[in-house]
Amino acid sequence: MEEPKYNRIVLKLSGEALAGEQGYGIDPTMIQSYAEQIKEIIALDVEVAIIVGGGNIWRGMAGSAKGMDRATADYMGMLATVMNSLALQDSLENIGVQTRVQTSIEMRQVAEPYIRRRAIRHLEKKRVVIFAAGTGNPYFSTDTTAALRAAEIEADVILMAKNKVDGVYSADPSVDVNAQKYQQLTYLDLLKDGLAVMDSTASSLCMDNNIPLIVFSISENGNIKRAVTGDDIGTIIRGKE
Ligand code: UDP
Repeated sequence: MEEPKYNRIVLKLSGEALAGEQGYGIDPTMIQSYAEQIKEIIALDVEVAIIVGGGNIWRGMAGSAKGMDRATADYMGMLATVMNSLALQDSLENIGVQTRVQTSIEMRQVAEPYIRRRAIRHLEKKRVVIFAAGTGNPYFSTDTTAALRAAEIEADVILMAKNKVDGVYSADPSVDVNAQKYQQLTYLDLLKDGLAVMDSTASSLCMDNNIPLIVFSISENGNIKRAVTGDDIGTIIRGKE
């Protein structure tokens, strides 16, 4: 059996990654392919926690830009992440992976409430834990949720799966042909250079708690496994040089 480099991981899947080509909503074939990739690392005995975004359904900022109360729009965004989480849970369970969804906003008929110690117990039993409804607070993002939960469950790394790029670039590679891909960065680089990897709240939380982050492409099958076994894919961001 291949040895994983990281034993407990947080995987961040953006809402966009679930939408596939259509750009909105949930594409079942995309989710199925992610579920298969996740199953591969469960087979390596890696403990997997997942945070799913909601941007494929609703983004609070977009609602607020159209005149909606920001907090209300953000709560709608958090509910969108619950829909995505249930879809991912369904796909994983379909292929025999045991899962639990925990929500930061209580909805007990739908999922368990977030209880840190209980989440850790599920992970120890090799169940995939999907953290839904973000942090439960408006004005935050699911990237910040990933950083927060990673710190709480003492994850070894955050894997940030992208579906359009394969790492962090000096400029948008789809626009600028001279854009350079970085192999390594620090959180300070992200903050200083305003690199659009994650929002600054999420970056500083990762920096302060020294949690490494790997930004990589999930579009290629087997990439989650490559990242977990320490293959040099994507860009790694660390707290210190
Ligand atoms: N959100 C929030 N608090 C959180 C996490 C998410 O208010 O702790 C809301 C926010 O409106 C955000 C939406 O949920 O726009 C969807 O999350 P995000 O934009 O992070 O999803 P992604 O970009 O990863 O698809």
